[in-house]
Amino acid sequence: MKSESAASSTSLSLWREASDTHVRSRFAGYYYLLAWGLLWFTSSEPWENLWAWGGGSLLLLLFFALRSHHRPSAQLDPAQLQRWLDLHWLAILLQSMTWGLMLAGIQLHPEIVASHLLIMLSVVVFGTSLAFTYPMRMGRCALAILLTYLPSTAIKFHLGIGDIGESVALVIYLGYLGLFLYRWNREYRIGLERELRLLLHGEQLDRLSRTDALTGLGNRYQFNALLPAWLANARRQNGQLTLVLLDIDYFKAVNDQYGHRTGDLGLQAFAERMRQVFRRDSDILLRLGGEEFAVLMPDTMLEQAIPLAERFRADLAAQPLRVEAQVEELPLTCSLGIGHFLPLCDDSAETFYKRVDDALYRAKARGRNRLELA
Ligand code: GH3
Ligand code: MG
Ligand code: MG
Repeated sequence: MKSESAASSTSLSLWREASDTHVRSRFAGYYYLLAWGLLWFTSSEPWENLWAWGGGSLLLLLFFALRSHHRPSAQLDPAQLQRWLDLHWLAILLQSMTWGLMLAGIQLHPEIVASHLLIMLSVVVFGTSLAFTYPMRMGRCALAILLTYLPSTAIKFHLGIGDIGESVALVIYLGYLGLFLYRWNREYRIGLERELRLLLHGEQLDRLSRTDALTGLGNRYQFNALLPAWLANARRQNGQLTLVLLDIDYFKAVNDQYGHRTGDLGLQAFAERMRQVFRRDSDILLRLGGEEFAVLMPDTMLEQAIPLAERFRADLAAQPLRVEAQVEELPLTCSLGIGHFLPLCDDSAETFYKRVDDALYRAKARGRNRLELA
């Protein structure tokens, strides 16, 4: 149970990370193209060296298409999600490197004269937006920032462009980015964890609210929700639906004679016996309250359900429940009402339930330890 919820939380957090990464990637392509266009048309001779500007644009368009078409699907398992993330990060890193090299390239190109300020702004702005957009993975994001930063900064040093103050400012800013990335990464992880915990908590609460604490069967609340739903289903699909109601005979006497604790163990053992007999995956076992139980059997015809219910009754009467309390064996019998949903006669879940409950009442009135047909 625990490992199941751990697996589902891993898969949820991977899915969340993948979908965040994809959603945040969507607009990156526009900004790269916009910045490149700006550099192009503010350069001194925009209509010269068209192969370099045009080739750069095509490359950016290619990355744009690649990243927006690479979508994660909710059906992927954790290993596939991890692979999706690795691949998407490869595209982010490649694009960062390409962008860094393109900016360095236009600085190096002897015939291209582009604004130095715009180039440095492109480095700083795209580095910042990487830290802001992808704080999910710190190491990979830091690498992407460095790939954006380093080529043109190295060229700047190499060619001696700009003054020393500017270089110092760039290095300090890079340090700042590292610090913010660390903080945003922590905030992202904490937020994700909190969200997952809330989600799992909600699921747990939901399960608890539908479960009977003593026997682990579904409770009345679940019965009230499921009966109308299965009824509507049977009506829509012309399907079968059978309901069995079970009430332990003279149970008050068990409590009076052996005490409430033994009574509780008896109820648990009764539920266990039900699990052993009504064992189809589709059978829904419920404790409606006190010593009253139900089995809801979708897609089950009356002819199949009656022998099963009758076997349960006969086995219980023949083999006492084992409780290992004050007494080891608790001889019990129960009365049962069984009914099959009839679309023409049962106009609601209440009328269907009432019909089967009446049958149970008849079983009690006719001497108990018997099955009556609704
Ligand atoms: P009948 O054959 O007519 O069904 O008789 P009965 O005694 O089973 O029915 P009745 O409705 O008079 O009493 C039901 C008893 O079930 C009352 C109560 O002592 C007992 N009971 C209900 N809920 C619990 C429970 O959670 N634990 C225990 N130990 N007993 C319970
Ligand atoms: Mg009873
Ligand atoms: Mg009762």
